Amino acid sequence: MENCIFCKIIKGEIPSQKVYEDGEILIFKDINPIAKIHLLCVPKEHFAYLSELNDSRAALLGRTLQKIATLAPSLGLGDGYRLVINQGESAGQTVHHLHIHILGGETLGWE
Ligand code: 5GP
Ligand code: ZN
Repeated sequence: MENCIFCKIIKGEIPSQKVYEDGEILIFKDINPIAKIHLLCVPKEHFAYLSELNDSRAALLGRTLQKIATLAPSLGLGDGYRLVINQGESAGQTVHHLHIHILGGETLGWE
């Protein structure tokens, strides 16, 4: 997708601090972390919203969650972590390419 910042990161047109990549997902450091560890996990397939899930995207998301769980200890998240998907602008979604926030590296509050 043209003008999608995360597609540009996936293509390497915008630099990022990548921590994991395979054929279908990329995990990189959030530029404005709100926890000691704040990563973003994006599918390489562009779609904007969780509400645009279809069967194949739902299967991809399932594999992605499994991958995050498997990778967590090696990412410094062995003590626990929080996954967040902001769906829509009123939830705070600012980048319109589906992404999972991975938060951890410290004890997380709940407000
Ligand atoms: P949202 O608010 O859409 O759920 O989350 C978007 C996230 O993307 C924010 O946490 C923001 O800090 C991060 N972000 C926005 N632009 C960039 C960028 O160019 N590079 C990186 N690494 N993160 C970005
Ligand atoms: Zn995109």
